[in-house]
Amino acid sequence: MSNVSDLLDSVPKGLWLGGKLVPAEKTFAVYNPATGEELAQVADATAADGIRALDLAAAAQEDWAATPARVRGEILRTAFELLHARAEDFALMMTLEMGKSLAESRGEVNYGGEFLRWFSEEAVRIGGRFTQAPAGNGRILVTKEAVGPVLAITPWNFPLAMGTRKIGPALAAGCTIIVKPAEDTPLTMQLLGQVFADAGLPDGVLSILPTSDAASISGPLMEDARLRKVTFTGSTGVGKLLVRGAADKLLRTSMELGGNAPFIVFDDADIDAAVDGAMLAKMRNGGEACTAANRIYVANSVREEFTDKFTAKVAALKVGAGDAEGTNIGPLINTKQLATVTGLVDDAVSKGARVRTGGSAPEGAGFFFTPTVLDQVPADARLLKEEIFGPVAAVVGFDTEDEAIAAANNTEYGLVAYFYTRDIDRAMRVSAKLDTGMVGVNRGAISDAAAPFGGVKESGFGREGGTEGIDEYLDTKYVAL
Ligand code: ADP
Repeated sequence: MSNVSDLLDSVPKGLWLGGKLVPAEKTFAVYNPATGEELAQVADATAADGIRALDLAAAAQEDWAATPARVRGEILRTAFELLHARAEDFALMMTLEMGKSLAESRGEVNYGGEFLRWFSEEAVRIGGRFTQAPAGNGRILVTKEAVGPVLAITPWNFPLAMGTRKIGPALAAGCTIIVKPAEDTPLTMQLLGQVFADAGLPDGVLSILPTSDAASISGPLMEDARLRKVTFTGSTGVGKLLVRGAADKLLRTSMELGGNAPFIVFDDADIDAAVDGAMLAKMRNGGEACTAANRIYVANSVREEFTDKFTAKVAALKVGAGDAEGTNIGPLINTKQLATVTGLVDDAVSKGARVRTGGSAPEGAGFFFTPTVLDQVPADARLLKEEIFGPVAAVVGFDTEDEAIAAANNTEYGLVAYFYTRDIDRAMRVSAKLDTGMVGVNRGAISDAAAPFGGVKESGFGREGGTEGIDEYLDTKYVAL
């Protein structure tokens, strides 16, 4: 297909309730951030729809958990293959509703698909343990059981992958799941609903509930004792609200929250490699990633060289609609985000930061911001403390390793840190001292379905991907024999 109007006509607009598409009472508009124009009207789920989805999820839970792991895995595998068969539709859909370039959207189809493939393989490896009691008076049997119905709330920056990262392990573990996609980008998840319907997922197991009022869905669901888990990717503020809300029923929670990633270039780094890594860590997804390098600390002895080369590459990025030929950087997601990024840049410049390239939003339609490099950014600039979520790089100099580590850790966030060095001792030493859940050493991108993604401090808790990812959806049961 992959023709814009055909794709928009064909995307399911109703509610996926337990795997069946049903018409919704009301709808809301989804916009193209490159033009500000409406793309489609999609179902606007109500609190009652949420409870209907939970009725179906709770009814299907026991059978789904009892379905052989091999069968669960094979459904996930089929979904992976169907996703790839429709890769161009998924890529175009993401570009239209989220704004990223088609090349990046294709990358997300691959990345997002990997969670379906990986967890299709993990489903059959849910293990347990069997030991003798030390006193010799019995045996200890440890088994893993599906947590139960899950609510997944996902963000707009990776409309596909942030969903598959939760749906993959939940289904592999034998949990039923209700997905509440972000209101800016629900259409990609609507397409994924079709993939799972076509892959033969049994009735009741998966519901998808786009809504213009997230809390009206999540609130009643989290008060219902049948729901057993909330998994969330989004802002730290909303994550805290959800954890508070989860306290009442003591729901299991996984929280992938904000980041404020430092990117450190030591004086012994391969500067060209560090520049390429910074381009990836900063500009991938237009900077709209919780893993995006927010603060670039460069050893003063190499700072001019790094910043000159980095600025030249940033200035060469082509800004435009994601589906236009040659686009590197698409629009930001919405006017609110454009105002946030503009405000952060203006604040830094007013406090003395130097604009090396970019610095403002171009004229015209759409929510674009020109890729920007700021250097000599003062310590009190807000963008060193707050998530930028845009194509804006802030460069700060440092003199010693200890100074760089202290600066890197000086944040309430702790998702990921990147650094470049050619000294293996330094690589080990610095990795150990960084207060983050993930570290990229001489790497500007770290995400991998086979690796545990997640943070510490106010970046949240829980891991997605890897062998750890499925544990989030399993409870431990001890049987004394
Ligand atoms: P961002 O600021 O990047 O949009 P949010 O944390 O606001 O990130 O959004 C991430 C997801 O959380 C979206 O699906 C959004 O609809 C949902 N969300 C926002 N506020 C709430 C809330 N109060 N309760 C439940 N979900 C929410």
